[in-house]
Amino acid sequence: MITVMKFGGSSVGSPEALGRVADIVLGTEGQKVVVASAMSGVTNFLVSAAESDNRKDRERAVEGLDEMHLAAAAKLFEGVAMEAFMDEYRPRFEEFKALMTDEAAAADPFYMDTVSSQGERFSTLLLAHVLRLKGARAVAMTAEECGISAEGRPLNGSAALNRTESQMTMRLKPVLEQGIIPVITGFYGINDDGKVLTFGRGGSDYSAAVVANGLDADVLEIWTDVDGFMSADPRMIPDAVLIDEMNYAEAAELAYFGAKVLHPRTIEPVRMKHIPLRIRNSFKPEDAGTSVHHLRKQTDEMLKSVAVKTDLSIISISSAEIAYRPNMVARIIEKIAENDVIIYSLSTSLSTVALLVHNNDVKATMMRLNTLDAGDIERIEVKSDVALVCAVGDNLLAKCGVSGDIFSAVKDARANVEMISEGASDVSLNFVVPMYKVTEVVRSLHSRFVTKERSA
Ligand code: ASP
Ligand code: MG
Repeated sequence: MITVMKFGGSSVGSPEALGRVADIVLGTEGQKVVVASAMSGVTNFLVSAAESDNRKDRERAVEGLDEMHLAAAAKLFEGVAMEAFMDEYRPRFEEFKALMTDEAAAADPFYMDTVSSQGERFSTLLLAHVLRLKGARAVAMTAEECGISAEGRPLNGSAALNRTESQMTMRLKPVLEQGIIPVITGFYGINDDGKVLTFGRGGSDYSAAVVANGLDADVLEIWTDVDGFMSADPRMIPDAVLIDEMNYAEAAELAYFGAKVLHPRTIEPVRMKHIPLRIRNSFKPEDAGTSVHHLRKQTDEMLKSVAVKTDLSIISISSAEIAYRPNMVARIIEKIAENDVIIYSLSTSLSTVALLVHNNDVKATMMRLNTLDAGDIERIEVKSDVALVCAVGDNLLAKCGVSGDIFSAVKDARANVEMISEGASDVSLNFVVPMYKVTEVVRSLHSRFVTKERSA
């Protein structure tokens, strides 16, 4: 039995938290693999240091991180344990220092990836040594040592799953078979040219799923600082409830749209190999959390959760008979893609293409769109401050009359629906309402379909 356990920044954020995490690992049966994020705050700190052209800022970052990790070590280790930790810490730290003081390194397109991933090298070292102190055989391993292969553009990598799998079979499996617990750096892999490539912010969850995939693990546990997936954001809906189980598709939609429980890309690598995933709270290890797997059981329940993405804008591009000019639609999307802007929803009519983007991306998107031939475009309009509501439920759209029921709850909230995208996935119905109405809409949906069904 192989369990891959991932711990996030706040779970490894202090000496006390590290001790708690080590107990959780040691309390787990079978072969264990640990994947960890940087200590909380460290990645942000590294990103701002790397962004600064001021040499002093970077030197300060080096000192700051050294102090922080050494302070944690001083609370955790003494004597030989401290010496053993320092033997491994020093070379990693020297490498980090050299990177931050090397002016030429900053010109590398993968510089930000390399700098921002440094925190994981230190947190995993601390955790491996805490495990050893508690009597386990544990070893800190970097993503390069265990063979996490990545491909793609800087700051936006994806794992090369097949290659990762064969490398892990050679490098990681033997470690496990000797009863050793590897503690692996999350957040990045190594590309074909040997460069560090990160998986996007929050990407350690995805790293853990990639490791689970590569090892054919029996279960992936994501240990974080929340209880699991909720039926709605509890800050918005105080009587939101924890979801005990859900299927991969539902979890993927919720992760993509909703709360920051899980990096949305975590689902695919485990879904492919039918590896169940569990979200657990490292501050409440006795709780079961949310379990995500292939749910076969049919339920009458209509909605599992209502997620919301706020601060979005609709950009509508009008041009005569645009629907008959697919090239034009393609060019619009291409322009927007040049900025790597995420399009949350897209709908077309005879003469309009409407796109949903984040408020912060409007300016850059408009600049790109303005480079299109003026003769082709009649009008571009922006409607800011809208929110995307994502109603998630298993097989939602296969159930008859569901949209009618959902929109009748929206009507109860007296909200105008600005845009709809139904059918893009059969577990979610997404629509856009004005920001000032979103809480009321979610409350209406939640009380009608979630709370009521549970109390029935
Ligand atoms: N440390 C990285 C970040 O803050 C990766 C992660 O936490 O998952 O984005
Ligand atoms: Mg996270």
